[in-house]
Amino acid sequence: MSDGTVVRYRAASTTGRTGDDVSDLQQLLGGLYREFGPPKPMGASAPATDRPHFFLHRNFLGEQDLAILFNTKRCRYQCTFCALPAKSSRRWIPADAVTAQFEHVAGELRHSLGVLERVTIANEGSVFDEATFPAEALTEIAGSLRKLPRVRRIVLETRLEFLRRERLDELRELTGKQLNVLTGFETHDPSLREEILGKRQSLESFAGGLDEVAAAGAELTAYVLFKPEPTMTDAEAFAEAEASIDHLQRECERRAIPLQVRLNPMYVARGTVLARRVAEMDDYLPPRLSDVIELAERKRGEGVDVYLGLTSEGLSDDEDTYRSREDFSRSLLKRGIIMNSEAGAVATAPAS
Ligand code: SF4
Repeated sequence: MSDGTVVRYRAASTTGRTGDDVSDLQQLLGGLYREFGPPKPMGASAPATDRPHFFLHRNFLGEQDLAILFNTKRCRYQCTFCALPAKSSRRWIPADAVTAQFEHVAGELRHSLGVLERVTIANEGSVFDEATFPAEALTEIAGSLRKLPRVRRIVLETRLEFLRRERLDELRELTGKQLNVLTGFETHDPSLREEILGKRQSLESFAGGLDEVAAAGAELTAYVLFKPEPTMTDAEAFAEAEASIDHLQRECERRAIPLQVRLNPMYVARGTVLARRVAEMDDYLPPRLSDVIELAERKRGEGVDVYLGLTSEGLSDDEDTYRSREDFSRSLLKRGIIMNSEAGAVATAPAS
């Protein structure tokens, strides 16, 4: 954070000053928290090629995480539910600009680099797709993390098609850190994957990627969508998401891959094929958060490490998310947030 930012907030807080210094300070901190803390807005495109789309130092499932959404050439896929490619560059962004994005973030975070325990590297697509994320930039950025001794884990977001065990081995040796591959699995149902979501990724292709994860001794974090098809009933959505988690669990267990599932209640991202479809439906209902929480609790009871994707990342309006359902309340949301604060414990506890 630059000193200029504090000056700006101080100026704003002293406008209409009441003489109440505590209020002024509260106003200053409240503004800084909203702009730079957990409520920090996301969803906007980066203002320049040497700036990332987004970064945040956050407490993530009990770890001090630095999450960075790098600004690179856009994802080459066009999944029907996803608005991310639209916000990214059509043009190649060279390695030196991507490295400059990381330098910017490191500079902003300079006072808290010493407490970071994990770093999440993402680009609204696949960081191992070398046609979008320059390979040399990824090597340089990941390699520099060796200098942060408390960082134990590097999370790399990618489609599994782009994974090669040799590349994972290279990064693990270079960094000395545990690697965690973050990817969208979405659903176990082949027809939903292809015809509804437009994933263009067969289950066989996904399984091939799991072989690479296993061979490199990496961990997996996988997204599962709750209600990937908008016409599903609540009960159908529950059963489908449960079967998807079960499928992932079996496939990872067979390969001894430590698995964490992020269960994402489907939201309708603006400007997507899904949004156009939903606009033509009279009776669309987003998932119920209470169902999502119930499923996560059930799977945790079975020893699966599940946490909840509670944000729509600034890409959706509230009426197109679980917030518009009749069961939604602040206390329900708080229950989900508390669940997330307990995630991770399941992975290390013996399965019941
Ligand atoms: S879901 Fe992933 S692969 Fe599909 S368009 Fe979005 S970023 Fe690309």
